[in-house]
Amino acid sequence: MSASRILGTEASTAHNHGHCVHQALEQAEHSCRQNGLRLTPIRRQVLELVWEGHHPVKAYDLIDALRGRGVRAGPPTVYRALDFLLKAGLIHRLDTVNAFIGCGAPGRPHAGLFFICQGCGDVVELDAPATARMIGAEAKGLGFQVVPQAVEILGRCRRCGDLRQQTALDANG
Ligand SMILES: [Zn+2]
Ligand SMILES: [Zn+2]
Ligand SMILES: [Zn+2]
Repeated sequence: MSASRILGTEASTAHNHGHCVHQALEQAEHSCRQNGLRLTPIRRQVLELVWEGHHPVKAYDLIDALRGRGVRAGPPTVYRALDFLLKAGLIHRLDTVNAFIGCGAPGRPHAGLFFICQGCGDVVELDAPATARMIGAEAKGLGFQVVPQAVEILGRCRRCGDLRQQTALDANG
């Protein structure tokens, strides 16, 4: 089975993002209810802010954004909320960019494979079981125990790649 797209757009400008946010919050509420978890107002707000776009969001930006909404939440509160959302499978931490991204398939076990654009910051998440199996097999050969984690690939999305090519052409012409 090849990888299937969980989340992400070719161009995050070309869709109704309000729909993504709405769906994410509904999924989160459903998933929390099913698992007996409480999506408190602060957890919900942090989730909503992480979902502001299809790009990774840093913890300190969340603190600022909350302040902008008139919510006074110190770093420990925000980190606790993020920790809850991570454990509940509602968001992912992307270590390469030290930031967080909303998960498009909470409650469904999946091997996250992320393509992170260094141009515009857009992230595409795929469910890539074949990649996970390959890594698992290599690790087994080494007797290496893998902890569950996201596989992160940095690069340029189609849009940003095209843009760079275009700029190079312009410079030459
Ligand atoms: Zn969207
Ligand atoms: Zn995910
Ligand atoms: Zn890009």
